[in-house]
Amino acid sequence: MYPGLFTIFQVNHQPPSSGSDSLIQEFSNVDIEWMELALELASKAEAIGEVPVGAVLVRDKQLLAEGYNRVIVDSDPSAHAEMVALRNAGKSAANYRLPDTTIYVTLEPCCMCAGLLIHARVKRVIYAASDPKTGAAGSRFDILNSLKHNHQPIVESGLLAAAASIMLKEFFARKREA
Ligand SMILES: [Zn+2]
Repeated sequence: MYPGLFTIFQVNHQPPSSGSDSLIQEFSNVDIEWMELALELASKAEAIGEVPVGAVLVRDKQLLAEGYNRVIVDSDPSAHAEMVALRNAGKSAANYRLPDTTIYVTLEPCCMCAGLLIHARVKRVIYAASDPKTGAAGSRFDILNSLKHNHQPIVESGLLAAAASIMLKEFFARKREA
């Protein structure tokens, strides 16, 4: 599961990879609402004792699928929030490729999920908190932004990062007390 999450989750201030020279990323109210839903899903993970990470996949302003981390309850090392959401999306779209979609995820994707998002042709990846230990969108590895792939998603970060990182920090603080 998400190794190394005992570190501090940083609020990401990186510029977008899409070429804007602005240092401040702008998100729409619609983006905020979707990330709020992803945070609700992260709470569901937390409620069953999982590291709180949630994800939603959106196309044409419609919710295509949602997921949250459930590696422990499913005994499935691949059941990260993004993986669960994209499996559900593939089924509901009856397609293994998911072009023109945006994923909102509360934590920077890991290497596995970054590969998944590229395979699935997700168009835009928006994550909240950065993960300096395992993040694969530039914090630790830079798989999502690599030009070596035949598909480059637009990657943006920092949306509701404080809320996501507080949820993670409090989760691990309680774990340490237990
Ligand atoms: Zn992952």
